[in-house]
Formats: sequence, structure tokens, C-alpha cells
Amino acid sequence: MKKNINNNKKKLILFDIDGTLIYPGNGAKNALKKTIYKNFGINPKVTYNNTAGKTDRWIMRDILKEAGIDQKIIKDKMEDITADYLIFIKEEYNKDNDAKVYPGVHELLEKLNEMENIYLGLLTGNIEQGARVKLAPFDLNKYFMFGAFGSDGIYREELVDIALKKAEKLYGISFFGKNIIIIGDTVNDVTCGRKVGAKSIAIARHPEFIEKIKEAEPDFLFNGFEDTSKLIEAILL
Ligand SMILES: [Mg+2]
Repeated sequence: MKKNINNNKKKLILFDIDGTLIYPGNGAKNALKKTIYKNFGINPKVTYNNTAGKTDRWIMRDILKEAGIDQKIIKDKMEDITADYLIFIKEEYNKDNDAKVYPGVHELLEKLNEMENIYLGLLTGNIEQGARVKLAPFDLNKYFMFGAFGSDGIYREELVDIALKKAEKLYGISFFGKNIIIIGDTVNDVTCGRKVGAKSIAIARHPEFIEKIKEAEPDFLFNGFEDTSKLIEAILL
């Protein structure tokens, strides 16, 4: 007989950061550019297309590869690059007050946080310290005891397994199937949890990318977090 995968009510909700909870402004992009300039003397193009849905280290590696830097050099310097990036992001982030938290985020997190059987985590390409820097001005770190970060793995798909392992260690709960809910704004966010049968909730804020996200077939698609009750309904379903 087929196992009823919804017999356990405990749900783990994993949130992406950039483009999902917050708009990071230009700070992270500038930090990345400064890091690469300091280490390699080049001015790379940092665009939505070469960054969205990727982890920090994946972005850096791809940009440097594109610029013709030898793979071995990239690998050897990755630790230094990461350390520099963390220094620069603290300096650059929200320097011009250009980062913002999206409407409805606080309300949604506050409600979820009060609900029994709901556990919150982060699933983001940001290196952990960078992620915390990005969330701090909006007082969002308090909702997330743990997460899987770009410092834990290179690809978003591996981050799902890492998040599940961390959740198990922290709460003593094995989350499975549709009780794992992944909320994010890119195709990678939609597809990364497929292997474990997770539910995906896509937040499509850029009209020009909606078609691509639809093609990836998320379980639910929203334009933002404004409709808190509809979102909670989708999470609990
Ligand atoms: Mg994102």
C-alpha cells in the first residue's frame, strides 16, 4: 500500500533570500565586483542572468572562468576570495539604503513562527555570514535558527540535503516529501527540491521571468507575499 506521506504534520519551510525575502540592492553586487578586482584586477559583468539562483561561490567561479582565469587558480584562491567578499559585503551592503524587505514578509514569518509544527530555515546561495548581513537591517535573522548556505555547498540541490540533515540534528525530526516546502524566486529554487519530493512555492516578481518559472512547474506560484492567508493555505495544503 502506498504510504501516506502527509501523515506527519510537521513542516519545514526553507526560504531563499535574494529576490524572495529581500531586494538586496547593489551592495552584494558591488562587494562581488570589488572582491574580483582586488584578487584578479578585472572588472566583471555581474548581471541577473549570471547570478540568480546560484550560490556565491558558484557565481564567482563562473565569472572568473568566463574571464579566462585558470580553474586551478580559482580553486586555490577561493578561500581568500570568500574572506574578501565577507569584508566587502559588510562595507557595501545597504550603504545607500537601497536594500529593502518585500511587503508581507514580516507578517508571514511572524504568523508562521507562531504556528505549531512549523519549522523555518534558510536555503540560500549566500555564504552564511553574508546571508546574516543581508537580513540584519530588517531584523529577519531571528526567524531562522539554521539554514543551508552557499558556504555549505556549491549547488542548490546539495543544499537541500544539507538543510534536511541540519534540521534533523537541530530538531530531531526527519522531514519528508511535501512537508518540505521550498520558497524562492528562480527556476533553481523550484527544481532543487524535486529529488526529495519537496513542495515548491515560487515567488515570481519579475514579469519577464514568469514564463520560465511556470515551465519549471512549481506547485504554487505567487507574485509576492502580500496575500499571507493564501500563502499559508498553500503551505499547509
Ligand atoms: Mg533568489
